[in-house]
Amino acid sequence: MENDHDVIVVGARVAGSIVSTLLGQKGHRVLLLDRARFPSDTLSTHFFRYPTFTVLDRLRVLDQVYSVAPKLVNSFNYVDGHVFTEPVEGQDGPSHYLCVRRITLDEILVNRVRKEATVSIHENAHADEVLYEASRVIGVRWSKEGKRFTATARVVIGADGVNSIVAKKVQPAIENSEPVRRAMYYAYYNHFDSQPGPAAEFHYRGNRLVYVFPTDADLTLLAASVPIEEFAQFRLNAEGNLKVELESMPELRDRIRRAERVGPVKGTGSIPGYQRVPFGPGWALVGDSGQILDPWSGQGIDQASTHASMLADAVDQWLSGKKPWEESMKEFNRLRHQFSDKTYERTCTFARDLRPMTEAALKKRGFV
Ligand SMILES: Cc1cc2nc3c(=O)[nH]c(=O)nc-3n(C[C@H](O)[C@H](O)[C@H](O)COP(=O)(O)OP(=O)(O)OC[C@H]3O[C@@H](n4cnc5c(N)ncnc54)[C@H](O)[C@@H]3O)c2cc1C
Repeated sequence: MENDHDVIVVGARVAGSIVSTLLGQKGHRVLLLDRARFPSDTLSTHFFRYPTFTVLDRLRVLDQVYSVAPKLVNSFNYVDGHVFTEPVEGQDGPSHYLCVRRITLDEILVNRVRKEATVSIHENAHADEVLYEASRVIGVRWSKEGKRFTATARVVIGADGVNSIVAKKVQPAIENSEPVRRAMYYAYYNHFDSQPGPAAEFHYRGNRLVYVFPTDADLTLLAASVPIEEFAQFRLNAEGNLKVELESMPELRDRIRRAERVGPVKGTGSIPGYQRVPFGPGWALVGDSGQILDPWSGQGIDQASTHASMLADAVDQWLSGKKPWEESMKEFNRLRHQFSDKTYERTCTFARDLRPMTEAALKKRGFV
């Protein structure tokens, strides 16, 4: 039976748009589905580093992303009473962070994938079933505006985030897991005076973290990460509790009072840690559906974009007949672990308690 597509990708944000663009560049026929309409926001703060820059450059959208938000060249740190500012280090020396709201970043990525002639993108398209032939995934069922559709492909990629329908259906084995350790809440502010650089700011007080990032549209993102034991209480008055949390950081108190919050306070206490086996017969997982980390370390976008780039190469090798499925997917998983394991382990360890990390940072700089 002739397949309708070479690849179906469910989810069109960081992981899904990137993997689809790179497969489209190679001429593969991709059906890309997302239940969202773009531009639209998603629950996520959004600072990222050179691994994402590398992938954005591969897509030829890095300059466009640079044009919307400032490069954050310094890291301003307040750690339990000690203050130090350092240049942001990249892989090859001084670098920067970027912080671009998801409504902006995801729209750039979706507009990029729209340029690929062999990728058909459907927004407002909800995938709800995975089709099997014997034990192999062969397609999905999806709906849009009340109509039902069936599509087949040689591989179905779940780039559909933490509540992935593809992962639910294929039941991947778990490689590593970690319970939910922290909650995060955030909001955007106008007229917030940034530290020179401009700087990304990290404020630690015991096992609590607040970060501050100038972002696009002249806004500043302020976010607080607290132990999960406080989540039940925090969510009852997220607005008031975020304010208390921000004002409890001495280097922020005055500046926050001069600033004006724009939009609602958002957050969650439901992000665990896991690494899942990311492939099986006829399917693959990428981005948060394959691996997730507590947001305190702000690594999800670097992880999702890098894994998407690696997966696109592996799927292309297989589709173009250069390697069998198992071999290319095992290589994908090897590279993924090589890139991610240290970050995954570090994020899970310090999500339990940030203090061993901050104590070591102070010691390294001669403060204690
Ligand atoms: C509070 C919070 C703060 C964070 N802060 C940061 C940070 O500062 N820096 C950082 O790098 N990372 C951060 N992250 C993590 C980051 O958001 C994720 O790692 C990243 O979004 C993963 O991208 P993704 O493409 O895999 O999934 P997502 O961005 O979740 O995209 C999944 C897409 O799949 C679609 N979808 C889902 N189900 C279906 C379906 N059945 N049919 C069709 N479409 C479907 C959704 O509509 C969505 O568009 C944070 C996360 C949270 C929760």
